[in-house]
Amino acid sequence: MLALLHRLDRLAEAGREMAERLRRQQAAIDSAARDDTERKRAEAALRDQVAFLSTLLDTIPSPIYYKDAAGFYLGCNRAFAAIHGRTVDEVVGRRAADLMGPALAGLDDNADTCLAALEDPFQVYETQIDFADGSRHDILFSKALYRQSDGSVGGLVGVMSDTTDRSRHEQQIAEARDRMARQAEELRRSNAELEQFAYVASHDLREPLRMVTSYLSLLQRRYEDRLDDDARDFIGFARDGATRMDRLILDLLDYSRVGRRSKAMAPIPVAEVIAAARHNLQVALAESAAILRVPPDLPVVPADDNELTRLFQNLIGNAVKYRSPGTVPEISIDWADEPGCWRFGVTDNGLGIAAEHFDRIFMVFQRLHGRGDYDGTGIGLAICRKIVEHHGGRIWVTSEPGRGSTFHFTLAKPAE
Ligand code: ADP
Repeated sequence: MLALLHRLDRLAEAGREMAERLRRQQAAIDSAARDDTERKRAEAALRDQVAFLSTLLDTIPSPIYYKDAAGFYLGCNRAFAAIHGRTVDEVVGRRAADLMGPALAGLDDNADTCLAALEDPFQVYETQIDFADGSRHDILFSKALYRQSDGSVGGLVGVMSDTTDRSRHEQQIAEARDRMARQAEELRRSNAELEQFAYVASHDLREPLRMVTSYLSLLQRRYEDRLDDDARDFIGFARDGATRMDRLILDLLDYSRVGRRSKAMAPIPVAEVIAAARHNLQVALAESAAILRVPPDLPVVPADDNELTRLFQNLIGNAVKYRSPGTVPEISIDWADEPGCWRFGVTDNGLGIAAEHFDRIFMVFQRLHGRGDYDGTGIGLAICRKIVEHHGGRIWVTSEPGRGSTFHFTLAKPAE
């Protein structure tokens, strides 16, 4: 009986041990299950992150790749695979030599070796590479080494920017600039030639003209008593024509002198220039009782003072000359400080000009009025335009027939 009790006791003991072992095993199984769930969760998070990163990479239009330290591609975005005519999977595991020609691959490998030796392992350089479609592109490479958690070099990341268009545009701009410089030089030369021609021609034309006039005078004096009225009239017309021609030639000479004989630009108070123009026009202004309004705060501008005086004189003179019959001419000058230039306006209350003539009146010998009505050769505004252009500006008119005109012009400010 005692033995039986003893055995039962041992059995109970063994049962407890077994239960304890089972409990421990269960605990170990539970813990392993918990670890497995953790691991699965961590793996899922990693997969999500990789998916996010590769989507992010694929949305970037610039080709991007990363390699291991031995030069094998670990990954890339679609843009990188596409320029080599591959899929992303086809790139992974390959090296530069598998994707491009030996020369370019050698260059790439060399650059990578240099990068690894750099203290600050970031590198930017420009090169050319051939795409799978055969086109050659200018590429700006940006490369950086990346390190692993133990500090060792894991490989490098490369980003490529296609600068072919930029290079092409830069080249086009440089070519256009070249072309413009050549044309400007050509224009300058042909202008100088033309001016020289106009000067010489008008100068030389005056000589034979003087001969015509003096022989006409001689004819008139010597044969006075033998000439009838008709002959006297004819000689008079011929002399008038010669005088007019002389005036035209003189005006043309004047026109050709603008810019040719000008002085270096110096700071000129516009108020002084207008005062000089007013002085030169005093007779016409007084005869017409014209009112000339000049603002008190006129600027000082870099200019040739003779040319600027001539400009204001022609415009104010025209404002008086082309006044409306029976009206006192009122002329106002205004100005504005604008970006890059000063703008001036000379406004009158005169005859006005129809819009279709706005451009024509600035051309040489173009007049809207007959000689019988208003004296002039039609060169005054052409001279104005030449003066303004010589000062880096432009001139234009706004007007309404019967209500007056405003002649606007700008003078360029010197480049800062
Ligand atoms: P000109 O006065 O010798 O004819 P311009 O070149 O100065 O030559 O002027 C050209 C033409 O423009 C003039 O014939 C005239 O018809 C017109 N014009 C110029 N200024 C004015 C003005 N302030 N008002 C109306 N017409 C004008």
